[in-house]
Amino acid sequence: MKIITSIFDLNKEIKNYKNIGFVPTMGGIHAGHSSLIKASQKKKSKTIVSIFINPTQFNKKSDFKNYPRYMKKDIAILKKLNVDYLFTPNAKDVYRFKSKKFNLKKSDKILCAKSRNGHFEGVLNVMNRLMSIIKSKDLYMGEKDYQQLYLIKKFLSKKFRVRINSCPTVRIKNKVALSTRNKLLNKKYLKIASEIALFLRKLKRKSKFQPSEIASILPNYKILLETKYNIKIDYLEFRDEKNLELNNFKNKFRLFIAYNINNVRLIDNF
Ligand code: AMP
Repeated sequence: MKIITSIFDLNKEIKNYKNIGFVPTMGGIHAGHSSLIKASQKKKSKTIVSIFINPTQFNKKSDFKNYPRYMKKDIAILKKLNVDYLFTPNAKDVYRFKSKKFNLKKSDKILCAKSRNGHFEGVLNVMNRLMSIIKSKDLYMGEKDYQQLYLIKKFLSKKFRVRINSCPTVRIKNKVALSTRNKLLNKKYLKIASEIALFLRKLKRKSKFQPSEIASILPNYKILLETKYNIKIDYLEFRDEKNLELNNFKNKFRLFIAYNINNVRLIDNF
């Protein structure tokens, strides 16, 4: 695996390859990331993984500071996975050149965009930059961050004529979605996260038969989970898979949650 930090070196290295898959990450590599890498390796002749903890997408400085960093371990895992290139640029270089600013419309200020002011603008900004550097025609992203996937499809897929390959959420046995942020939780909190995941999975299954009825009592479930587990739920909502419309049960839909547990924000969808 070649580890590249400069944009110039990366361009030199990949300019002759057309068949490249790109897996952007913020590190703390886990089996969720590996699933994206494997999906890319199945289809593409070369795979680039980036590790870049993007400062502009954190709406709290403390969150950026506390975000887990495991570069050494990550390199070892990525080598084992036979990744071709690891791109680890620094923020100065990524933000050196001028680039389009993204503003979300009111209709997009839902779910995480409602409470994390500027978060997705930061995500779109950095993805616009990374994609203009890497120019891959295939991007691999996880459904775990469903709204991110939705917004990148909406704002960037046409511009870069990139295929966005969405990969299902990888969970551990206890059904908790793998996430780098899980590393900030101890056993006790992971057990709670597991109970919540199991409960919501069941609720989603039930909702297939009577979605409107369950949607109408979601606020009660929200309070129930908050009091039982001493957590703060930001949202618990059913939304359409295609357009993220609230309580639209005509097409496929998902149950979305974001909550804070011991000061760690977790998101998931079922
Ligand atoms: P992150 O490093 O958290 O920014 O995630 C990088 C990519 O991995 C994003 O496309 C995520 O959606 C994806 N990802 C994160 N967790 C999982 C998971 N448990 N299953 C599948 N993909 C994931």
